[in-house]
Amino acid sequence: MAIHVELLGTGGYYANDRRHTPCVLFPELSLALDGGSSLFRIADRLKSSELRLFLTHAHLDHIVGLPYLLMPLLLKKLDRVTLHGTQETLDAVHNHLLSTPVFPVAIPWECEVISGTGSLALDSQHTLFWQPLPSHPGGSMAYRIEQVQESRKTIVSYITDTTVDGTYTAFIHQSDLLIHECNFPDQCAELAEKSGHSIASDVAHLAVTAQVRQMVVVHVDPSVKEEDPVGIPEMRLIFPDTQLGVDGLMFDVDS
Ligand SMILES: [Zn+2]
Ligand SMILES: [Zn+2]
Repeated sequence: MAIHVELLGTGGYYANDRRHTPCVLFPELSLALDGGSSLFRIADRLKSSELRLFLTHAHLDHIVGLPYLLMPLLLKKLDRVTLHGTQETLDAVHNHLLSTPVFPVAIPWECEVISGTGSLALDSQHTLFWQPLPSHPGGSMAYRIEQVQESRKTIVSYITDTTVDGTYTAFIHQSDLLIHECNFPDQCAELAEKSGHSIASDVAHLAVTAQVRQMVVVHVDPSVKEEDPVGIPEMRLIFPDTQLGVDGLMFDVDS
């Protein structure tokens, strides 16, 4: 069986008319990565009443949607939510986003701290792996889902808020789908370096080096009005199986 993936939000920084900020959903696994403004879409798309949500880091575009989980919890569309992140990330969510003046209602979720490099068995066939990404201000977390069925391995990786710095090439090796941020086109290399984000050609070259099968780019700059904010044709000259993420895009990933 394929791994079903839904991109609920594919923009970075702030929502615009085309894109909300990040959340990647694996409905059959009751798993989501990041809690951006697109999180309002999750309740109607879940396949169970449980949700495990893993955060990459605590920057606002990745957590701003977390308070939206309160209503599905109160309405019993969700029975149980477990929020996973580093201690720093979970502290930031509770001390700032959910401080009383900002959001005065406690959300009944459970929290689990992750640290360093690790993994969690989601069920008998699926494992989630994580590894810190050091180059973004405050750091971020890389995630990889592996499905093993009859000795066939299928891999989906999610990498956001990082420069292409060589630290995670092995982590995403031979991914069947790589979901990678591409906040800037090549012309903005200086800004990308300063802000700890990736540029298009670096991302395309990485996909080649890591021998991934297909790639979708997300966390694109919301201030760019053009339909293609990063230069997809140029990326395809380097890595042909590149596509631009849009909200609602789905994949059935097989090896
Ligand atoms: Zn971000
Ligand atoms: Zn960030």
